[in-house]
Amino acid sequence: MAAKSVSFYNVKLECLPRKELREMQEARLREAVHFAYQNSQFYRRVLDRAGLKPHNITGISDLQKAQIFTTKDDLRENYPFGMLSVSKNKVVEMHATSGTTGTPTLGLHSAQDLEEWGEIAARSLVMSGLRSDDVFQITPSLGMFSGGFGFYHGARKVGCTIVPSSAGFSKRQVEFMVDFGTTMFSAIVSYGFRLAEVATEMGVDPRRDTKVRKGIFGSEIWTREMKRKLSDLWDLDPYDIYGSTELCGPGVGNDCYLHNGLHIWQDHFLTEIVDPKTGEALGPEEEGELVFTTLTREAMPLIRYRSRDISRALDERACECGRTHQKYSEIKARADDMLKVSGVNFWPSEIERILLRRSDLGSEYQIRVDRVNSIDSMIVTVEARDSGLDLGRKEILAKSLEKDLHDVLLFTPKVVIVEPNALPRVEVGKAKRVYDDRSG
Ligand SMILES: [Zn+2]
Repeated sequence: MAAKSVSFYNVKLECLPRKELREMQEARLREAVHFAYQNSQFYRRVLDRAGLKPHNITGISDLQKAQIFTTKDDLRENYPFGMLSVSKNKVVEMHATSGTTGTPTLGLHSAQDLEEWGEIAARSLVMSGLRSDDVFQITPSLGMFSGGFGFYHGARKVGCTIVPSSAGFSKRQVEFMVDFGTTMFSAIVSYGFRLAEVATEMGVDPRRDTKVRKGIFGSEIWTREMKRKLSDLWDLDPYDIYGSTELCGPGVGNDCYLHNGLHIWQDHFLTEIVDPKTGEALGPEEEGELVFTTLTREAMPLIRYRSRDISRALDERACECGRTHQKYSEIKARADDMLKVSGVNFWPSEIERILLRRSDLGSEYQIRVDRVNSIDSMIVTVEARDSGLDLGRKEILAKSLEKDLHDVLLFTPKVVIVEPNALPRVEVGKAKRVYDDRSG
C-alpha cells in the first residue's frame, strides 16, 4: 500500500516505545489490583479466596497461576451495583447491554472514566480519519447502548461538528446526511448497509449525492468480504472499532489504515488470549478468547475479564502506522456463536466469507439450522444483488454455492437465492442472521 499520511490524537502515547509501554502496564496493573482489592467487595472476595494479597501480585502471571477470571455471569450476579469500586454518587454515566439473553450487564463510569473513555475513543476516531473539520453523524443509539455515547465522547475531544442523529428513522438520517453535508458516519455494521439501501430507495446515490467518504463501524462480527461490499456502496474506506459496554464502550481498539488487525490501547487495557475451554494462556498467533484487565477504570475495574470474543495476538514487531500498541486479528466470532451441525463445528463468519466474495450476491443472508428425526439440516438464504434473476439462474447459483460451502463444512447445506430486500432488516440494534431452531 502506498504511504499514507498518518494522524494521531495523542502521538506520544500512541507511539510510546514498547518497553516504556510495558513498564507502564506493569506499574498500572499493580495499582489496579491494589485499588480493586481496597475498594471492590467482589475482588476482595476473589483475591482472598485465592489466598492472594495485592502485594503478592507482581505481574499478570501471578493472576494466571491463580486462575483468576471475571465472567459475564459474575457481572450479572452482581447486577446492578455489586461490581462498583466507588460510592454510587460518583457514578456520572451508566450504560447497559440489551439483556436479550437475561440480566443486562452494565458499564458504570466515574467522571475520570468518562474522560479516559473519551481519550481512547478520540484516538480510535482519528485513526479512522476523523478530523476537526468533519461533519460526523452518529447513527448508533445514544441511550443505554454504549455505542452512541462512545462516539460522542470521542468526537467532542476531536472537535468536529457532531450530528447525534442516533438510531432508526433511516430516511431522516439520509436527509440529514445530505442537508448537513455529513463527511463521516459511525454505525453498527449492518446499518451501514441499510442506510445505503434507504438512500438508494430515496433516489440518493450514496457515492455521488453525499459527501460521506469516511466511516467507522462496529458491534457486529464482520469479514473482509463484508468490508469490501460496504466500501463499494459508499465509496469509503471502512474502519473497524472494537469495544464492549463492560469495558467502557467503543474505543477499546481500532484498526489503522493497514486494515490488518486492531490496535488495542495497552495503556488502558492489559490483554491476553486464552483457551476458551481451559482458560490456559496462549501465545502469539494462537486463536482463543480475548481477556481484558482494565488498568485505569475507577468505577468498575475488571480483572481478567472473559470477553467471549475470539481473536489472536498478531506476532508483529512494529506496525507501519507508527503505533506501538499490540495488534489483534479482527474479531472472528463470539465464543458462544459456534455452530455444530451434523457433527461439524464452525463459525457463521466462515459461511459469510464464502457468500460475500460473490459479486452477484447482496450482503444480506440468513442461516437456519433445524433438526428433524435426529438429523440436522441447515438452510442458507441469501439475497441476489440484482432483482429479476430467472429461476434457472438462481438454481445454478445456489448449486454452485452449495458446492463451495460443502468444501468448507464437509456437509451440504441447502442454499436458497431470494430477491434483493427479501430478508428482514434491522433498523435499531444488531442484525440477527443465525437462527438455531433445534430444541434442546
Ligand atoms: Zn497500525
